[in-house]
Amino acid sequence: MPRPEVMDRTAGFLKKSLETMPHAKRLDYLNRKLKAVVQHAYKHSTAFKNKMESVGLKPKDIQTMKDLEKIPITKKADLVELQKRNPPFGGFEAVPIETLRRIYVSPGPILEPGEAEYEDLGWAQAMYAAGFRPGDIVINTFSYHMVPFGMQMVDNSLRQAGCIVVPTGVGNTEQQVNIMKSLRVNGYCGTPSFLLNLAEKAEEMGFDCLKDLNLQVAFVAAEMLPESLRFKLEEKFGMMIRQSYGTADIGCLGYECREKNGMHIPDDRIVEIVDPMTGKQLPPGKTGEIVSTTFNKIYPLIRFGTGDLSYLTDSPCPCGRTSPRLAKILGRVDQVTKVRGLFVHPGQADEVASKHPEIRKYRVVVTRKEHKDEMTFQVELKEEVSQPEKLKSEIEQSIRDVMKVRGEIQFVSKGAIPEGAKKIEDRRTWE
Ligand SMILES: [Zn+2]
Repeated sequence: MPRPEVMDRTAGFLKKSLETMPHAKRLDYLNRKLKAVVQHAYKHSTAFKNKMESVGLKPKDIQTMKDLEKIPITKKADLVELQKRNPPFGGFEAVPIETLRRIYVSPGPILEPGEAEYEDLGWAQAMYAAGFRPGDIVINTFSYHMVPFGMQMVDNSLRQAGCIVVPTGVGNTEQQVNIMKSLRVNGYCGTPSFLLNLAEKAEEMGFDCLKDLNLQVAFVAAEMLPESLRFKLEEKFGMMIRQSYGTADIGCLGYECREKNGMHIPDDRIVEIVDPMTGKQLPPGKTGEIVSTTFNKIYPLIRFGTGDLSYLTDSPCPCGRTSPRLAKILGRVDQVTKVRGLFVHPGQADEVASKHPEIRKYRVVVTRKEHKDEMTFQVELKEEVSQPEKLKSEIEQSIRDVMKVRGEIQFVSKGAIPEGAKKIEDRRTWE
C-alpha cells in the first residue's frame, strides 16, 4: 500500500452518510436506535428493567429522545454500588457472561464487559476527523492493561480507520522514539503530556522532531489539552493534533474536526446536556451535565451521567459534519454552584481570569443578602495598576460575557486569598 506521506488529511469522512445526515433525518435515526436499544435492554438487562420499573416506565413510553428525561440517570457511584450488590456487572450487561471476549477493570473499581467484536465507530470517526488515514503507522501509547480504553477502544478503532498499530503502551520513551524513527511512524495516540515527553526525549537524544521524525497526526484524549501546548507540539513536529472526549463505560462522546470549534458527537450515540439537579434537558448554549446513551447491545448503558460539564452548540460546522458539538469540558458537576438560577463553575472563572493578565490570583465568593444571591470576584493583582476603576469595569464585563451573571470585583491585597483556596466559595446559609 502506498504510504500516505503527503496528502490532504483535513478532507473527507469515515462514514459520510451518517456524518452528514440532515437534522430531521438525524433525529429520526437516533429515535429509532433509541427505541430499539430500550426494548433490547429492558428484555436483557435486569438493572435497566429495574430502573424503568422504579419509575413505572415500560419500553413503549420511550419513543423519542425527549422521553429520555423520564428515565433516572445512572451515575458512576451507582454503578460501583450495584456491581457490589450484584456482581460482576450490576445487571447492566445484556448478554450471558460466557459470550464475552474480555472483562476490563477501571478505577472505582468498575468492571466492564468487553465485546467479542468491537463495532462501535465513535473513536474511529474521531481518528478520521483528526487526520488519520488508511496505511498510517500509529503508536498507541495508551495503557493496554486492565482498562478498556487502550486495547478495546483505541486499538480496534485504529483498525477500523485502516491504520497499522504499534501497541507501545505508556512509558519507555527512548524506545518509543527509536520506534518512531525506524518505522517512520506518522500517527500518535495518547495523552498530550506524553507526546510532550516524547518530544523532549527525542531532543535529548539529539533528534530534530521535525526533520528526523515523521509524525503528522495525533489523537489525544484523557487529559485537558491547553491551546498553548497544542500549538507548541504542532509546531515542533509539524503535525495536526485533535482531541476527543469520552468515558471508558460508553466510549467516544465528542471529537474535534479540522475546525477545532467544539467536539462533534459521534452518530451512534445520544448525548444530552441536563440540569444536574433535575435531570431535565437543556437547550444549546446552556451549561449542564453530559449524560449519554449508547446503542451497544452488550452493555447498553442508558442515561449514564458522566459528572462532566459542557454545553452544546448546533451551529453549522464548515467541515460538513452535521452532528451537534460539545463545547470544551468545563469542569465537574460537583464543583458547580448556582447563582441567581444560573450555573457557575470554576472553568468559567478561569476563563474570566485568563482574559486579564493583570490578575495574579482570584476567587469567587457567593453570598446571600436579603434573599438574593451576590457574587464577588476577589482579585489579587500582579502589581498596582494606574486605572483600577477601568480594570474593574473591564473584568465585570468579562464576567457578564462568560458567566452570564453579574458579579462585583473586589481588589484584595497580596496574600489575602489563601493558597489552595477553592475557586468558588459558597458562603450562603439557608436559614
Ligand atoms: Zn466539524
